Amino acid sequence: MKNTAFILFLFIFFMGCDSKPKIIQVSKDAFQNGQYNTATMGLLSRAKISASDKAKNVIFLIGDGMGLTQVSAAAIKNDNELFLMKFPIIGIHNCQPSEGLITDSAAGATAFATGKKTFNGAIGLGADSSSHQTILERCEELGMATGMVATSTIVHATPASFISHRPSRKQYEDIAADFMNTEIDYFVGGGKKYFDRRSQDERNLVKEMQDKGYVVNDYFQEDFQNLSIDTKSNFAYFTADDDPIPQSKGRNYLMPASKTGIEFLDAHDDPNDDKGFFMMIEGSQIDWGGHANNAEYVISELLEFDKVIGEALRFAKEDGETLVLVTADHETGGMAINSGSTKDSLNITFSSGYHTATMIPVYAYGPGAELFSGVYENTAIYDKLLLAMGITASK
Ligand SMILES: [Zn+2]
Repeated sequence: MKNTAFILFLFIFFMGCDSKPKIIQVSKDAFQNGQYNTATMGLLSRAKISASDKAKNVIFLIGDGMGLTQVSAAAIKNDNELFLMKFPIIGIHNCQPSEGLITDSAAGATAFATGKKTFNGAIGLGADSSSHQTILERCEELGMATGMVATSTIVHATPASFISHRPSRKQYEDIAADFMNTEIDYFVGGGKKYFDRRSQDERNLVKEMQDKGYVVNDYFQEDFQNLSIDTKSNFAYFTADDDPIPQSKGRNYLMPASKTGIEFLDAHDDPNDDKGFFMMIEGSQIDWGGHANNAEYVISELLEFDKVIGEALRFAKEDGETLVLVTADHETGGMAINSGSTKDSLNITFSSGYHTATMIPVYAYGPGAELFSGVYENTAIYDKLLLAMGITASK
């Protein structure tokens, strides 16, 4: 009923408007069932890529804890077919933080978001605790549309590092408050309680967002099905009070939220001054499967994430001005596929319940993709993204 009333309201409201906003109707569609087949897409051609072309849009996909073994195991389970195996340009990054060899997701994502190595736990700060503008904040400042989707809370380390500046990733309520400082246009993830039932102050950030013109939805409206989204208003959707559940337990918003987000951000910027968009999509729970030393958890999360990568590639191939970049912040679990494994029965062991120092693959497609071949520090991903987009840091 809530949905019907909302749609009716939009209809009546926009009857009286001169310029019709684009309304995205989200329905249970083929994409949700992963009906794109990697084979039918064909190998994405390197010949179509010119490094001199600027990327107008960037879709940056981060598979938290997604090392090569995680990818290999998912590929084996999926008949050696992954969208990740279609990329023409591959690089490797070194994920060490400013101190020690093993990074966490905060230092790892901060390296991508700000180009600075930092200490574990730090969000959007350099090793000396100085604050640095993130790539998302810079894109917003330049008038681009910006968005994030995560399968964790939206204040978790990876998304937080693109929009917040805090010495500890655990400052969830402070991180939520930092969402009020940037006009991020679209975000989807868990963690609603850090916005509207805060323990450290009386602020209701959902109300504050609504006052700023955001349309805020939440998990009471199941999934994204039959949701109407006005691309002229900023949009936030909370998928859980705290952590969203695993894919295997019924979580199914990553694909529709990502696909809708791409369409939303593409339509959201001013049509007379089309500046493009920056979107970060995180497959957060690949990492949680690694921490749990649970191979099935890792694989199911990764296969879902791979379908979203396929959707990003499909959009980029059609659009021609979009860079798709996929990587991980680090590997989790020291995962190994051991001798005695068969396709149907993988003999997988883990050497750790935490992250490891192994280098991490980077996959790139679209304008500027060639910048990402080679071996480099995780911080270089920030520099290469700016280069690919033809923008510079503030000042
Ligand atoms: Zn982790």
